[in-house]
Amino acid sequence: MWVVATPLGHLDDLSPRARSALENASLVAAEDTRITRRLVPHRKDQRWVSVNEHSEAGLIEEITNHLLAGDDACLVSDAGTPLISDPGYRLVSAAHDKGIRVSPVPGPCAAIAALSVAGLASDRFFFEGFLPAKSTARQARLRELASVEPTLIFYVPARDLVKVLSDMRETLGAKRQVTLAREITKQFETIKRDSIEALRAWVEADPDQCRGEAVLVVQGVSEPEPMISPHVLAEALKEALPPSQAARLLGRVSGLSRQQAWQWIQGSDRASDAEHQRSAAQPADGDFSE
Ligand code: SAM
Repeated sequence: MWVVATPLGHLDDLSPRARSALENASLVAAEDTRITRRLVPHRKDQRWVSVNEHSEAGLIEEITNHLLAGDDACLVSDAGTPLISDPGYRLVSAAHDKGIRVSPVPGPCAAIAALSVAGLASDRFFFEGFLPAKSTARQARLRELASVEPTLIFYVPARDLVKVLSDMRETLGAKRQVTLAREITKQFETIKRDSIEALRAWVEADPDQCRGEAVLVVQGVSEPEPMISPHVLAEALKEALPPSQAARLLGRVSGLSRQQAWQWIQGSDRASDAEHQRSAAQPADGDFSE
């Protein structure tokens, strides 16, 4: 059985192998046969069946018997790669159980296409697919994902972008980077990276961004935020503020401990100086008041 990827929008993305597999198989199991039939010429002796979440169970026996008789078949979804947030898992699993060879004809996948242009860490990623439709359940799931380190990938109907980005702001924070990949390979394709809050506001201001299909690729927690060096920051703060205030502010914005911040303001970052600095110059622990 061939598991065949098809275009996300641009028909030229149908690979020659995918076309040949679809043209030559004696049976094509498609999510919506009307959509996939547009990709290849009609053949009267070819059988087309519709496979979706509900029909899948009844069809498995029929399709696997067809395959066991030595005939070939293709599994295909409306767009992209079957089984990726699409039907087919039970059929593929049953084929393995019955010793039937399953082979991919790889090609487009919205999640991978979006990740490839997201400009976010791509060495590790977490594919979540669709979030729950209701905001309470969606926020609960996002809270569970808030500490995931790899880049996160979500499938989002574009009409829900503002609501989903608002929930992401509440649960993941406004500042994380997120890339919107909308209508990939289609006429009105949008690829845009910004902070969660800036992207939410931008989408809200442009109703056209709420049409079609979208993927959100969100920065994971492991990616370090770009940081100004404590040295540069300390020099700037020293110029503008009394030392105690400069140290307090440096600690707050840089994440340094109070003692480290005080050392930077005093012009020394050597760990061996810490105790000396502390007793000679630093006010009582945690107290920067003059
Ligand atoms: N199996 C498909 C794949 O390989 O990507 C995904 C199917 S899932 C039912 C449909 C979702 O994929 C859409 O809601 C959207 O999130 C994403 N998607 C599909 N085509 C897209 C496109 N051209 N641009 C952006 N996202 C797309």
